[in-house]
Amino acid sequence: MSAPAALNVVPFVSVDTMMKLINRHGAERFLTELAAYIEEDFRRWESFQKTARVAAHSPDGVIELMPASHDTLYAFKYVNGHPKNTRSGRQTVTAFGLLADVATGYPILLSEMTLLTAMRTAATSAVAAKYLAPPAARTMALIGNGAQSEFQALAFRALLGIDRLRLYDIDPAATRKCAANLARLGFDVTACAGVAEAVQGAQIVTTATADKQCATILSDNLVGAGMHINAIGGDCPGKTELHRDILLRARILVEYPPQTRVEGEIQQLPPDHPVEELWRVIAGQAPGRRGASEITLFDSVGFAIEDFSALRYVRDQVLLMPGVEKLDMLADPDDPRDLFGMILRAA
Ligand code: NAD
Repeated sequence: MSAPAALNVVPFVSVDTMMKLINRHGAERFLTELAAYIEEDFRRWESFQKTARVAAHSPDGVIELMPASHDTLYAFKYVNGHPKNTRSGRQTVTAFGLLADVATGYPILLSEMTLLTAMRTAATSAVAAKYLAPPAARTMALIGNGAQSEFQALAFRALLGIDRLRLYDIDPAATRKCAANLARLGFDVTACAGVAEAVQGAQIVTTATADKQCATILSDNLVGAGMHINAIGGDCPGKTELHRDILLRARILVEYPPQTRVEGEIQQLPPDHPVEELWRVIAGQAPGRRGASEITLFDSVGFAIEDFSALRYVRDQVLLMPGVEKLDMLADPDDPRDLFGMILRAA
């Protein structure tokens, strides 16, 4: 007997469908709802099967597979990171991912994840900042004004009310693009001539630069007491953004230590340097911000559970969305053991 018809096709969320979903909800509502899914999964962190992502490095980039599994759902994401891609009109980061039913192993959703990665990265950053940033923060410096930047801004406004942004990028065209997009969305935007100018008066600093090297985007003298740093661009071995001295002064929060020790800013530190896991703060097992002068750092590299949450959220939205494409991805012979017979009959 073949499987019920609905199980043999897999809903496919194309880039076009993802854009429709984001526009239908509004990006900030999407980010807020996605953040709730991420928090829910971070609270049950211990019950996931977890592994550091599997990375294939090459001179100009990296290709990674990121799996995570829970009681009933399994997810993986394919993602790349190629900072030189923008020179040939390509994205630095592209991705797609799959959600599957643990009970049968059958895929239940295939989705583009280039847009979704930007959304989930921004939502995770804002969730971390909700617990760690100074409560009265209004202004964020945004260093690196490429593909991720507007998403970060929107998530911080949606979750923390941050509406003043100070932008800097080594490429002024990137800052012009980001400033124009964000001004259209009602942000109070200041384009700055350098990092030092951008961090002036900012309670939060987000670094989202792309360069395959250990860079010093932010130097120690620019980090004042009480600042929250959201460092998302250092996410590969040999690719960091912060001066090491900042790490020695900051309270460091990470996603999954075995992965971040290799990929994050903390690759600059000895392997036993104390760091804390973000999920514990979200689950109430560790405090959020501990005082007005504490320097907090979310050393973000991106972890598979965030993609699991994002796919789970999109699956729930797509269930309510008419006209989503279905893919003929699963062979369905009348007799499950007669797989070859299906080809014979088709001929
Ligand atoms: P992008 O290439 O679109 O933009 C990067 C921007 O950084 C460019 O505009 C570039 O000019 C700028 N830049 C490079 N060096 C700089 C410097 N020294 N000072 C100021 N600006 C500089 O890349 P993107 O898609 O926006 O991604 C940004 C970074 O975030 C990448 O490194 C990417 O790997 C990383 N990322 C992390 C996560 C995560 O979960 N932590 C998720 C997605 C992307």
